[in-house]
Amino acid sequence: MKDFVFKKKFGQNFLTDTNLLKGICNDAGIMPGDQVLEIGPGMGALTKQLCAVANKVVAYEIDEQLKPFLFELNCPNLTVIYKDILKTDMAEVESFFEGDYKLVANLPYYITSPILFKFLTQSKKLTSLTIMVQKEVGQRMAAKPGSKNYGLLSVSCNFFGDAKILRNVSRKMFSPPPEVDSCIVGLKIDRGRFDVSAQDFFVVSKMCFKSRRKTILNNLAEGLGVSKQKLESLGIDLTRRAEELDTSEFVALTKLLKANFNVAETNR
Ligand code: SAM
Repeated sequence: MKDFVFKKKFGQNFLTDTNLLKGICNDAGIMPGDQVLEIGPGMGALTKQLCAVANKVVAYEIDEQLKPFLFELNCPNLTVIYKDILKTDMAEVESFFEGDYKLVANLPYYITSPILFKFLTQSKKLTSLTIMVQKEVGQRMAAKPGSKNYGLLSVSCNFFGDAKILRNVSRKMFSPPPEVDSCIVGLKIDRGRFDVSAQDFFVVSKMCFKSRRKTILNNLAEGLGVSKQKLESLGIDLTRRAEELDTSEFVALTKLLKANFNVAETNR
């Protein structure tokens, strides 16, 4: 690593511990026939373990200076694309995979949320994600209604499955060490879990969480641009706060609002 200057702006905190790297592959349940997408392979420590088990690994890396390290891995089942994953169309990413694939990544923390939302809302073939995130983000992803960490991120993940913290990882395991501890979160994606479109669900949940202290009634009246009386005439209890509702209640609310208002249009 001595010839390489770490770029903080790209969230470059690399892993080296082989046991941990093998553990992450294990957490992800990587099997010999699997196709895997890795975001941010860095010097290829995790990539090498993934390539040892999976059938095919496609990795997106923003930093071209990492080319020599990834080239040296010499993995025949690896394709590295030097591109910003956030600026890449989902169709392009998914064109590398025939059928299902799994996402495994030690994510650059500065873009964890946009990556999550991109893959959760746009992906058609992703079956699971196993990602290293900042500990607090992991806690938010896996949080249950009523807890202090519960919010839009929890509901958004829960729309697709039960996010689980699979292991905690100390900052000391990274080189250079970041300022925070981390954890590995696993989420198996089930797109048929609820019979409402993800887009409508996200619009409604986002509106409800807009101002955490306000009741859903106030948030929805503002978000939808309709009167409180109109909302009250729907005949459901809107006096609660978003943090009290579970995913199925957001689904029911989405359906009811969709049947009575133009939910999609109000989001434009
Ligand atoms: N996977 C390696 C490991 O575990 O040692 C490196 C992980 S490091 C936390 C994050 C990696 O993501 C870095 O290699 C960084 O250059 C890359 N990265 C940062 N932003 C990116 C982006 N927008 N698109 C693709 N890769 C990115």
